[in-house]
Amino acid sequence: MIRTGDQYRESIRDGRDVWINGEKVNDVTTHPSFKPAVDIRARIYDMQHDAATRDVMTAEVDGDIVAQGSKLPYTQDDWHAKRKAIDTVMYDIGGIVTRVGDETVGEMWSLWDGKDILNEIDHRFSENIERHIHQVIKDDPFHVSANTDPKGDRSLRPQDQDPDMLTHVVKETDAGIIIRGAKYETAAAYSNQAFLKPTIANWGDAKLSDYALGCIVHMNAPGVKHICRTGFTGRAPERDYPLSNKFDEVDTVMVLDDVLIPWEDVLFYQHTRAATFIRATLHRYSAFPFVQRTLSFADMMIGAALWNVKQTGLDKQQAVMEKLAELAVWREGINAHLTAAVATAEESPNGLLMPNQSLLFTGRVHAMTNLPKMMHLARELCGGQICVTPDAAAFEHPETGKWLEKFYSINDSWIAEDRRKLLALARDLVNSDYAGHRLTFQLFAQSPPFAHLAAVYRNFDWNGPLEFAHKAAGLSDRVWGEKKQAAE
Ligand SMILES: Cc1cc2nc3c(=O)[nH]c(=O)nc-3n(C[C@H](O)[C@H](O)[C@H](O)COP(=O)(O)OP(=O)(O)OC[C@H]3O[C@@H](n4cnc5c(N)ncnc54)[C@H](O)[C@@H]3O)c2cc1C
Repeated sequence: MIRTGDQYRESIRDGRDVWINGEKVNDVTTHPSFKPAVDIRARIYDMQHDAATRDVMTAEVDGDIVAQGSKLPYTQDDWHAKRKAIDTVMYDIGGIVTRVGDETVGEMWSLWDGKDILNEIDHRFSENIERHIHQVIKDDPFHVSANTDPKGDRSLRPQDQDPDMLTHVVKETDAGIIIRGAKYETAAAYSNQAFLKPTIANWGDAKLSDYALGCIVHMNAPGVKHICRTGFTGRAPERDYPLSNKFDEVDTVMVLDDVLIPWEDVLFYQHTRAATFIRATLHRYSAFPFVQRTLSFADMMIGAALWNVKQTGLDKQQAVMEKLAELAVWREGINAHLTAAVATAEESPNGLLMPNQSLLFTGRVHAMTNLPKMMHLARELCGGQICVTPDAAAFEHPETGKWLEKFYSINDSWIAEDRRKLLALARDLVNSDYAGHRLTFQLFAQSPPFAHLAAVYRNFDWNGPLEFAHKAAGLSDRVWGEKKQAAE
């Protein structure tokens, strides 16, 4: 039931159509741009078998061993176990990866929560989502997320421009539906499958729309073409850019050129109500692991900043301590939201346990909106040396190395090589191309900030504040009484 790293590698050597920098990729497992991310995903699979980590990375369900990330959550302990598994992965790999499967699979659980709506359309659709959820648990594939289309001119309806700007169905056949369009997708080129659904766009408010489409897309299906952005790996030596070279999660424009989706992989089709439901509930579960990644990011930034001021002896300055405290307040705010969201978790319409929605989504906004400011604070604490320090080769060369040895050796404890290594890590974390990319990833990869605020608006219980202010002002019951009755 649970795969090994090599089984995963074998599964993506399947003739998929992958391109990067104008080059066709024959094997993503060995290509230098993809290999580091593939190796990390493979390591996560192997951690499921490794005696040191298997108990954390897996769980037993009805006598079967399954991946912790895909296990359905029914209890608070299930969420604690998921959180622990991810922390174990990040520590093991010594960095941060987001799109490795556990963070996207929950999107399918959200759709399953809408099984009554799917049943209204066609009971086969609710059977399909249920089967796919269990298939992920059974087969342990690497599952990613396909939401965002190119979208084109937003002042026009998709029907009034190139219709492929939003993914849509072009034909129905006995074997399934034929779809056309494109999606932006992190990690698609080295994953097995994606849950495709409509993006946030004006895809029409008609009851039936060819744009209201949810399905599973297999990454090697005929007509699926992955056109990847340039990678960060190999741009500069690993010693100087350790994160760029090891943790680049390559993004893809996944072109869907008349791709056949067999009926068993169609999760909904045509019904705008199902599309509206999934857009409103998409991150019900998956926001948790996404926000948790920001906690890891916070820890790495705090660690880099603190080691820097320890190396330079600035850590005893009151002003420096206050800046570190600001970072800690942000970090603990994220931690508090995650912890409380599980402590006050709620039963979903389908009997799963979902983190407290209001606390989870306010936590996501807290984590993401403060991230740029906190990254800047960490950059400030690391000092300008992160962007002016020469590279490892200069430290090694006899002509230049002796000078760098002299100026980067701080005292008996802090030798030049440790100083160089820390500055290289900090540079790649907060000051490199890769650092900018990660910041943009956090901004957009789980939909843009306005959608995060919309999720807060939908899930916060406004009645408490309304009632409190109503009483304080001594307002009449004419409006509030009716509202209360409606809510009850
Ligand atoms: C690194 C990275 C990785 C990604 N990975 C994935 C992935 O794995 N899967 C996936 O499906 N997508 C992925 N995305 C895509 C991501 O979901 C989109 O970038 C995001 O949804 C925003 O869409 P857009 O880029 O087309 O911006 P646009 O839709 O053009 O929006 C740009 C800005 O316009 C404003 N705006 C637009 N519409 C509205 C509105 N209705 N109300 C208010 N303001 C609005 C907002 O300020 C918004 O930020 C990724 C993106 C990045 C950057």
